[in-house]
Amino acid sequence: MLKVSILDGYVDEPTCLGVPPYISPYPRYVAGAIWNFDKSARIFYLTIDQLRNDMTLLPVLSKSDMVIVIAGMSVPGRYLSGFPVSPGELVSLLSDIYQPLKILCGPAARYGFGISGGKKIRETRFVEAVFDLIVKGDCETVVSEILNNKYDIENVNSSQFRKHASDIGGFAVKGSSIIKQHPFYPSRLITEIETYRGCPRSIVGGCSFCSEPSKGPPDFRPIKDILAEIQALYTNGVRHFRLGNQPCIFSYMSKHADESEFPQPNPDALEKLFKGIRNVAPNLKTLHIDNANPGILARYPNECRRIAKTIVKYHTSGDVAAFGVESTDPVVIKKNNLKASAEEAYRAIKLLNDVGSATGYNGMPELLPGLNFVFGLEGETKDTYDLDYDFLKKILDDGMLLRRINLRQIIPIPGTRMFKTGNKIISKHKREFKRFKKKVSENIEFPLLKKMLPEGTVLKDVLTETYKGKLTFGRQMGSYPLLVGIPGVHPLHTTLNVKVTDHGYRSITAVPFPLYINNAQRETIEALPGIGKKRAIRILANRPYKNKEHFINSLDDPLIGDKILEHISIK
Ligand code: SF4
Repeated sequence: MLKVSILDGYVDEPTCLGVPPYISPYPRYVAGAIWNFDKSARIFYLTIDQLRNDMTLLPVLSKSDMVIVIAGMSVPGRYLSGFPVSPGELVSLLSDIYQPLKILCGPAARYGFGISGGKKIRETRFVEAVFDLIVKGDCETVVSEILNNKYDIENVNSSQFRKHASDIGGFAVKGSSIIKQHPFYPSRLITEIETYRGCPRSIVGGCSFCSEPSKGPPDFRPIKDILAEIQALYTNGVRHFRLGNQPCIFSYMSKHADESEFPQPNPDALEKLFKGIRNVAPNLKTLHIDNANPGILARYPNECRRIAKTIVKYHTSGDVAAFGVESTDPVVIKKNNLKASAEEAYRAIKLLNDVGSATGYNGMPELLPGLNFVFGLEGETKDTYDLDYDFLKKILDDGMLLRRINLRQIIPIPGTRMFKTGNKIISKHKREFKRFKKKVSENIEFPLLKKMLPEGTVLKDVLTETYKGKLTFGRQMGSYPLLVGIPGVHPLHTTLNVKVTDHGYRSITAVPFPLYINNAQRETIEALPGIGKKRAIRILANRPYKNKEHFINSLDDPLIGDKILEHISIK
């Protein structure tokens, strides 16, 4: 029997996320290719974190016929529930595994290992010695050929890509059941769904730092293939989906996408796709999107307004369209062939605020823009930071909302124009970048967050994930979820409704809602507005409370009691 191990070292690319709670399409497609070849094949899927936590799993890899490692981070990220594999870690893990054929797939195989923003990529040759094959092309296509060629890797073209997006339709369905082996399955797992790859701006060279143009113009997956995949995943128990694997969801099935750098969007196709998803996955819990090109929204406001309304109609709230603004400095925009001017980005942000800023069922706005800025680009000067700051300040002053502001330094990727520049500009502006981040956090992000989620807002279904001392951290499921600190030690991996009590720059403090005061923990009571340490001790000493009056009378200041009543329940 064919035995294959898939080690998921996680991927994080501009157009695809596969760090838990996300699972990227890579392992699903490759599992589909294997089961397409031999439906009785035994595939063992494990994540790098499972292996880190239990090294007794290593011998299972040794006994496989093939070990496929999926890895590569080409955009810098911060993670709460897993951390991508490093090249050094791979070398030490795989050095003593001899029998199976060892294959490296994903962005690490194509471009090397991104370490973090502003740092040079660690080249693939660093891990060459522990792999038999480094797949520069599409993993599922190459693995399929390896199997058909009876492991004769000498005669396999490891740089081959799928010919058309429809080639992976069957693999995507056949491989869907692999998600059952993910440690976050079923309730904590989000499946990243691909709708297309390639960028229309590849015909003009694309943005200077981005690897997507190397995939050519868009190759759209047929709607029926995406729906068949989602149906298969849903049948296998998946309830959280993100249409995140594409450069711009508003451009899906756009017209003349191989002729124009800003093709005309196709609202009918988006309606068909989103409606179809709700038909095949009626009780899904999360349906979110990811990237969107602000240049498209600014150029086609009518089509994009329709698309935004379609998304809001069928998705789940707390959704984010991540806009690659990158820079608002006209010199940087020109030198790096970026996709939108500051004025266009502003119009795109306004459009999405008009359609999506209302509060949804889970307490978050329905659909907001998130902004990505990139630093270290050609043409960047100290003035660039002032221009970007003024732009953000105008968004705030004009009363608009942003779900997040992501300020990152480029990872110079081989094959992009920025590779030559490397981290030269990043090093030069190191201090500016640090200062700018702080200023944006304090003066922009903080007031924006307070405005978006005022004290007393109830957020539903916050999934508890980890502890730091006597503080539990959780997030709602979905695209760019907000970090919620819940004072006290609450059971992990359960969902809570919480009420906002305080704000950090990029996170909030909240207490379970309703808070049963007769058995609440001291740390949680302390976090209630106006309570603090001394009053919390007093509240604890007077428990149990029979009714509201009893509670208010036991406090030193009845006015505080009145305010607290809206947060608590007396049972
Ligand atoms: S618009 Fe620019 S950043 Fe976006 S995918 Fe195309 S080349 Fe990359």
